[in-house]
Amino acid sequence: MEIVPPFNEVVEEIKEAGGDAFRHCFQCGLCDSVCPWNRVRQFSIRKIIREATFGLTEIDGENIWRCTTCGRCPQYCPRGVKQIEVGVSLRRVASDYEVFPSSVRSARTARASLISEGNPLQVERGKRRDWAEGLNVMDFEEEMEVLFFVGCYLSFDPRMKNVARATVEILNQAGVNFGILGNEENCCGESIRKIGSEQVFRDLAKENIKTFIDKGVKKIVVSSPHCYHTFKNEYPEFMVNFEVVHMSEYLAELVADGRLKLVNPCEQTITYHDPCYLGRHNEVYEAPRELLRNLPGTDLVEMADTGAQSLCCGGGGGRIWMDTPKEERFSDLRLEQAKATGAKVLVTACPYCITNFEESRLNLEYEKVLEIRDITEVIRDAVVPVVD
Ligand code: SF4
Repeated sequence: MEIVPPFNEVVEEIKEAGGDAFRHCFQCGLCDSVCPWNRVRQFSIRKIIREATFGLTEIDGENIWRCTTCGRCPQYCPRGVKQIEVGVSLRRVASDYEVFPSSVRSARTARASLISEGNPLQVERGKRRDWAEGLNVMDFEEEMEVLFFVGCYLSFDPRMKNVARATVEILNQAGVNFGILGNEENCCGESIRKIGSEQVFRDLAKENIKTFIDKGVKKIVVSSPHCYHTFKNEYPEFMVNFEVVHMSEYLAELVADGRLKLVNPCEQTITYHDPCYLGRHNEVYEAPRELLRNLPGTDLVEMADTGAQSLCCGGGGGRIWMDTPKEERFSDLRLEQAKATGAKVLVTACPYCITNFEESRLNLEYEKVLEIRDITEVIRDAVVPVVD
């Protein structure tokens, strides 16, 4: 059955999210020409914008759920159309009608888990600090230098817990007085907002903000670019401003201040993938590269589609919780680009990118060809004394 919601309702949602700019689209198609979907299948954000302008949007198909919010099309649009905001507002309408195609059903499971447990991974809230067992990590207190906001994937995902532990080793090595929120931490809410569950985002954000204020948090260090983006650019909607630093920026700062010394030889050819929410959305391109260039014995090589043109891994916009057929995964293309450089290690700085890349590594049978590492893991190996 085709579901077309009332025209006014759609237009009001879009206007609230991104103003009137969507009406200025003159159908040039530049957005479609840079959209990563068109490397794996046909998809037209231009067509969605056109249909929305005339109130003809069908909300019961797959298309409104495809956008990964990678940020490529707004870079090129000559009319300032806010494609991401238009897409998210259509998802809000679909969510209000509870209309979800089968590929999106797992995102509903994530939403239910966020409401009950404060994380999308269906793990009990009370297990949020289990990753730190045996590491002697302190709960945050006001006089501490920084709050390490661990995030959901680093707290619960078995692969990503290694990144949380590597972070602790580095911060201890640098003598940073830091703490975590443990079971009081909630998901930042960035991705659930992008799939249209605005109220769930607002509830999570308010709980986190209250915890930050109650505990006297001033400076927050995060590993996930999605936490980074939402704390920096979306939480100020609640009239608060915290100093937010991405781990790659913080580590570069510690090295520059002489608190961390990159001493252990790496002796590898490395390539770096810019996560969309760190690079394009927040223009952090240089800090991770500076760290990698300074690793002893390392050769840093660039892939095709690098920096502001970085190819999305496919995990943004809540797609990390949706089903993508094997032959349509951008992360497979990215691994092929990484392999073409001759690098043996693909480094990035985002839990979604790592999750998708690890899966593509298996799909492509690249286990012996390419290693996937978070920048924190690479830096930990360079700074923590090797014990024989
Ligand atoms: Fe419309 Fe902008 Fe896309 Fe051109 S690039 S079709 S103006 S949304």
